[in-house]
Amino acid sequence: MDCLFCKIANHKIPAKIVYEDEELIAFDDIAPKAPVHILVIPKKHIDSVTDLKEEDAPLAGRLLIKAAEIAKNKGIVDSGFRIIFNTGKHSGQEVDHIHLHLLGGKPLGSMVCE
Ligand code: 5GP
Ligand code: ZN
Repeated sequence: MDCLFCKIANHKIPAKIVYEDEELIAFDDIAPKAPVHILVIPKKHIDSVTDLKEEDAPLAGRLLIKAAEIAKNKGIVDSGFRIIFNTGKHSGQEVDHIHLHLLGGKPLGSMVCE
């Protein structure tokens, strides 16, 4: 499958990897919107949150738990951070491989959409 994030997960395209195990990989976003902007993805290809199956529940949970662990390691828990899953056209989802955005390190503004 010709998927950018599968290629990153398979080390076919370089990325600044901040965490990796058998199931997950986390790497710096190439165009960071905040001092900490990390993408956490499953290595398994899943298009978006709407394609998660019941059997993916442990994997989906691990994405969140790992993101929180990375936030702790980056020292942004006290200041606060945001987790986003863009999904579909109106969200601006560009890469059709499920990914969690972990953003922090500066005030992130309100959740009001522009
Ligand atoms: P989306 O808009 O799909 O939720 O987010 C995709 C994210 O992937 C964007 O924030 C974009 O900057 C990032 N991105 C796109 N191409 C690459 C790449 O080749 N490497 C990395 N590290 N991030 C990328
Ligand atoms: Zn993929």
